[in-house]
Amino acid sequence: MPKPSLEAIAEGVFVWLQPDGGAGVSNAGVVVDGDGLTVVDTLMVRSQWAPFAAAVAELDQPVRRMVLTHAHIDHVGGTKAFPHAAVYASPDTSTLLDQPMPIDAYKAFMPAFTDEFDEIAELGTRPATHLVDGAASLTPRIEVLPASGHTSGDVLALVPDADVCFAGDLCFFGVTPLAFQGDPAEWALMLDAVADLAGLIVPGHGPIGGEVEVRELQGYLRACVEARGDVNQVGAGPWDRWIERDRDAINVERAAMLARGDDSIPPSMLTAIGLG
Ligand SMILES: [Zn+2]
Repeated sequence: MPKPSLEAIAEGVFVWLQPDGGAGVSNAGVVVDGDGLTVVDTLMVRSQWAPFAAAVAELDQPVRRMVLTHAHIDHVGGTKAFPHAAVYASPDTSTLLDQPMPIDAYKAFMPAFTDEFDEIAELGTRPATHLVDGAASLTPRIEVLPASGHTSGDVLALVPDADVCFAGDLCFFGVTPLAFQGDPAEWALMLDAVADLAGLIVPGHGPIGGEVEVRELQGYLRACVEARGDVNQVGAGPWDRWIERDRDAINVERAAMLARGDDSIPPSMLTAIGLG
């Protein structure tokens, strides 16, 4: 696997893309403003966030803020790497950050990182210091926008002058999305707005894309809803070349449960985290 690096995609806008983007392997970003840096998401385990934090330190500017796109551990595990940054997150993300971490579930779902999860349990994450409960200008360059679909507390970070949107896990490109806490139908609708936000979309997992990739993801989520609980009905599509297709079962089951008013975690996800 090639090592990730801090890559400039526009003036003062950097991405840190972890190759392949599977479970526990997410992206992060950095935006430069006049007063210093804003980090978008923080990766998961030390072997991921330590090189990222070191590269950010080489920019030689204070890290003023971080935006957490949602509470999943592969986006918030590295919050302690930026101890002086203000932490911006949705109210839902804030609540989850204040709760004990389900370390055994993480180990069952992402066994490749089992050894490092013990350190996360010890280290913990930082709490939110500022709540994003509406669309707001965070800095002269950055707008934060509340959203939902992947979780109930998603936040997007937009850099209009660079035509860049950090979409968090509202976008997975080349990687099957995971909707165990989301709503595939609502998520597909939300992607109409995401597609219009910027020309360059930085997903939570996978390589940078744009409207084409957003529409492919939207098509997949709609196929999951239309499968009505039968994973064999998802059918063919661009998703046939994506990784992590075992998530189809979770996404289809979740969509069918929500359609009948059941908001609980799908049994297929409970099995995947060792509780089934
Ligand atoms: Zn997520």
